[in-house]
Amino acid sequence: MDALPSHLELVQGVVLPRPVGAHPVLDFVNTRSEWTTRGPARTEWLTSYEAFLIWNSYVGLLSPATVFRLIERAGRSSSEVARRLQATLDFRVDLYDVLTDQATATTFEAAARVIETAFGDRRLVSTDDGPTWELREDLALPLHNLAVLAGDLLTGPSREHVRTCPSCGWLFLDPRGRRRWCSMATCGNRAKVRAHAARAR
Ligand SMILES: [Zn+2]
Repeated sequence: MDALPSHLELVQGVVLPRPVGAHPVLDFVNTRSEWTTRGPARTEWLTSYEAFLIWNSYVGLLSPATVFRLIERAGRSSSEVARRLQATLDFRVDLYDVLTDQATATTFEAAARVIETAFGDRRLVSTDDGPTWELREDLALPLHNLAVLAGDLLTGPSREHVRTCPSCGWLFLDPRGRRRWCSMATCGNRAKVRAHAARAR
């Protein structure tokens, strides 16, 4: 097998993009290539609900044990799994528009409904470390967990630090205002090569 490009990694049999967004919600949005062209992605990394679960474990949003149990559960309910994956991909599009100030009233409402449902699903539970918010471990968990984080991002101080890569449309946090590209290894390097070729002409 050919070696993978450095921005990708093989995780439990699934090829996933390495996180570059500096925030899990932005890395979620970056699980498809070239947002700039819109329409269907040239490369889609969330190719199945199981791939989405493995991505959650890869970026540290869900524990490997939870992902293991949910993968088992997913195997027994294929129609629900297909529905959950589609809802996840729909949310990703709507959220991208909201994060990049391109949302229409309809796409904003759609993203907001998912986030509100997720917040409404939380339970306040008592733990040894004190009370904490928890989501039920079911097939809705990965999307609801992301939606809660998205709600916090959209309404919190990090919102103003979200930047868009001018080359591929991926999103990343840039609190110090120093980053131009999603990654120097991909888009930054391509831009450098283009600039060099232009100078050489
Ligand atoms: Zn980029």
